[in-house]
Amino acid sequence: MDVPSYTPLDTPIPAGEVVIERASTAQDLGPKLNRTAADVVRFLMHQGEMVTATQSLSDDMIELFAAELGADIRLVDPGEEQELELQKLLEVGTADLFDGDDSGAPGRPPVVTVMGHVDHGKTLLLDRIRSANVVAGEAGGITQHIGAYQVERDGKRITFIDTPGHEAFTAMRARGADATDIVVLVVAADDGVMPQTIEAINHAKAAEVPIVVAVNKIDRDNADVQKTMAGVAEHGLVPEVWGGDTIFCEVSALHETGLEDLLDQVLLLAEVEDLQAPEEGRAGGVVLEAHLDIGRGPVATVLVQRGMLEAGDPVVAGAAWGRVRALLDDRGDVLHQAGPSTPVQVLGLSEVAEAGDPFVVAPNEKVAGRVASAREHWQRQSSLGRDAHALSGGARLEDIFTRISRGEAATLNLIVKADANGSLEAVTGSVRKLEADEVRIGFVHRGVGGITESDVGLAAAANATIIGFNVRPDRKARETAEAENVEIRTYEIIYKLLEDMESARAGMLAPEIEEVVTGEAEVREIFRVPRVGAVAGCYVQNGEIRRGSRVRFLRDGAVIWKGAVSSLKRFKEDVRTVSSGYECGVGLSDFQDLRSGDVIETYEEREIARTSEG
Ligand code: GDP
Repeated sequence: MDVPSYTPLDTPIPAGEVVIERASTAQDLGPKLNRTAADVVRFLMHQGEMVTATQSLSDDMIELFAAELGADIRLVDPGEEQELELQKLLEVGTADLFDGDDSGAPGRPPVVTVMGHVDHGKTLLLDRIRSANVVAGEAGGITQHIGAYQVERDGKRITFIDTPGHEAFTAMRARGADATDIVVLVVAADDGVMPQTIEAINHAKAAEVPIVVAVNKIDRDNADVQKTMAGVAEHGLVPEVWGGDTIFCEVSALHETGLEDLLDQVLLLAEVEDLQAPEEGRAGGVVLEAHLDIGRGPVATVLVQRGMLEAGDPVVAGAAWGRVRALLDDRGDVLHQAGPSTPVQVLGLSEVAEAGDPFVVAPNEKVAGRVASAREHWQRQSSLGRDAHALSGGARLEDIFTRISRGEAATLNLIVKADANGSLEAVTGSVRKLEADEVRIGFVHRGVGGITESDVGLAAAANATIIGFNVRPDRKARETAEAENVEIRTYEIIYKLLEDMESARAGMLAPEIEEVVTGEAEVREIFRVPRVGAVAGCYVQNGEIRRGSRVRFLRDGAVIWKGAVSSLKRFKEDVRTVSSGYECGVGLSDFQDLRSGDVIETYEEREIARTSEG
């Protein structure tokens, strides 16, 4: 290292606030404060920190040096500084739109997110509300799941975000996207307040979003509405009827009771909230969901939050950009324009945007392209830095604690696959929060879709653990993982995942339950049988399908349903097992949405004895 001359102590520091990127090196930091790299290195050496001029400095070190000089600095994340400049470029001439003051603007429909514990009925509630309240004139169309939809009640519209899940809600918020005006908290009356109910309450409170409580499943014999209300009240949501200010609605999603009252209460609350947004001018909003469609290219569902989005507009969403080729509503119908609170699919973007990305209409196409490519550039740079770091010295979840107990810092390399952009974002965001001094987390790869052989190959190369959220490995991936000794952990509930990660961090990973796949069948056809309901005609491809065994239904590698094989037939006969190479009929009980091409996977859970040392 060549050591430049030392700067005299009285050399003036820059006036005013200096913006410094996190993880700057002494070489970057020194000159910004009118000092040399050697000044920084020497100073830190005196503090007992041995660093080179090209090594990234911690926040503490940077602040320590600034404090020594008496300089006023602001630490920003890499890219943040450029981003501020890009924002300025985009906002040319839109001061009227982006001054954040909506007073006097027209009213807009409320945007609602449904939250609650798993299995308390969020999905069914969303489906039933939707089918019973389609926007006038739209009945009969084929609904598409685009991540959000609008319903109409007494001529007033309500927008529902159709991706229930707290972490998605929080991940959006973490990215600065406050999409939700009202949270509907679903609590099953037969189950009461559960961990994710509390989690949902906390998320909504943190976001300062008002909550309407829907006490669901009141049709159940063991429903106890009073007890459920009391349970919720314990968490600070006291019912109006008990003198509090939280609205409670008693509903049964299954029997569609109380749904109208629920919508009325939401509208009432929306009125109190006085939601407004300008309906004119360049549109802005947030990406709710995005994927690559084989026929149509990148497709993003966006929620317009202000202004009017029109076909032909030049837009930027994160690092994606383009001219809006078409706008489609949740029925797949073409729209010419979309105003505030409208969810709409946008075609014509250059790539798949990320959930939570803000989108905005640019002054012109040139600016849109420039902003997107600048963002892509620094995003790639910062992820390259991360990945390179991640690839050095990996560890598996079980190994982590041994290394920590030996006093070694450990890096846990992860490959994360999830069923949708939103959940991927959520998993990454939550896992990242667990990072601590002794455990670094490196994301080797993140993607939407089932776990494939190539993911396993990558994991083997990078010594990474694969985390699947609502997705499963296919057979090839499973076999390769076994051969290569790659760990795959799949989850369907975020808090289970976080619990495991926490335990691994604390060195107390519970005995692992290993799932052994016992059979695999492909769905060929769906039959309706009187008094039995839907039956899936399947061909058993591997292992055997056994009546009573646990089963999950997979579509494109993603879990769409879980339960048990309740009835199993060969021709008309009830049978106990059907082996590979034969056809069979699998009863679907209450799950109806199976299609040909889906996969039925049966499995068993076995506990694996854990060895104490790796
Ligand atoms: P989610 O995990 O919160 O999305 O829950 P789902 O919507 O998937 O519902 C879980 C289960 O509860 C499903 O089997 C539903 O059919 C059932 N369910 C939902 N709402 C009701 C209800 O009001 N009454 C009854 N009896 N069952 C319900």
